[in-house]
Amino acid sequence: YMSSVGLIGLGQMGYGMAKNLALKATSNVYVYDLNQAAIDRITSEFPHVKVARSPVELSELASTVITMLPESSHVEKVYETLLPSLDSSSYCIDSSTIEASVAKDVAEKVRAKGGFAFDAPVSGGTLGADAGTLTFMVGAPSVESFESVKPLLSLMGKNVIYCGDNGTGQVAKLCNNMLLGISMIGVSEAMLLGTKLGMDAQLLASILNNSTGRCWSSDTYNPYPGVIATAPASREYVGGFSNKLMAKDLRLAMKAAEGCQTSPELGTMASNVYQKLSTTKDFDSLDFSSVFKWISQK
Ligand code: NAD
Repeated sequence: YMSSVGLIGLGQMGYGMAKNLALKATSNVYVYDLNQAAIDRITSEFPHVKVARSPVELSELASTVITMLPESSHVEKVYETLLPSLDSSSYCIDSSTIEASVAKDVAEKVRAKGGFAFDAPVSGGTLGADAGTLTFMVGAPSVESFESVKPLLSLMGKNVIYCGDNGTGQVAKLCNNMLLGISMIGVSEAMLLGTKLGMDAQLLASILNNSTGRCWSSDTYNPYPGVIATAPASREYVGGFSNKLMAKDLRLAMKAAEGCQTSPELGTMASNVYQKLSTTKDFDSLDFSSVFKWISQK
């Protein structure tokens, strides 16, 4: 099915995904973004990557279209323009983190055109996108259709997991990110408390990482500056996964929780913390591990 592949959205994540496609895909690779600088960044590194002038042109050139956009509204907008050019040979994979209900809705519209739609949000962050080691959580119209896109997603990820019908990939993702928001605040509070009480940050981190408090927020993405050289904390929280996007994901989780009459205690608190960070000047665009800096200043 995969004669060519296109990627719309070349931001923090899309850039790394495009890079892995450029390096590994055997077919033509097309890209599109609203932001010319994002396009230039990838094409200057990989001159064989082709640029589409619009989402429609990209979908005409590529039988498989991947989108990596910020929020539900962007995905809806891009699909609105794509839909007329889709047919039974079209495969549409959305890797953005969006509302499960929007993912289902979009999938239904693609299905009505005879095409195949997948929600395939990712975890692994910008480091995973760059290294091609993302985890894809995939909602698909059928197991067979999932199997047919798995090889393509494997070019960008090391785990490609079938979650069930359309929308279930997004459900898995929002549960993961609710937990991630909570754990990042928890690690920040532990690192702040320990260092205030006189512990060396590096030593404290290594103890946590060999103890029961260990988690991704402590051992891979530690929020204390300098503990992990490649983490955003070691470059003043620039790049990575923004507070704005984390606030968005927690809003999605809270909305979904309300929809099924559950009220997560810590999820609600984490959501409130990140709504504040995402609306605080000088913090809104920083990586979400900057919650450490924020609580340190309080
Ligand atoms: P980003 O804001 O860095 O990138 C989004 C890109 O989409 C930008 O380049 C923007 O110009 C482009 N764009 C916006 N509207 C467009 C349109 N209509 N047409 C074409 N291009 C358009 O965001 P990101 O950090 O790459 O995240 C993308 C998605 O992945 C989000 O849903 C996010 O929640 C999710 N995600 C991010 C991370 C992370 O660590 N950054 C990790 C996992 C999942």
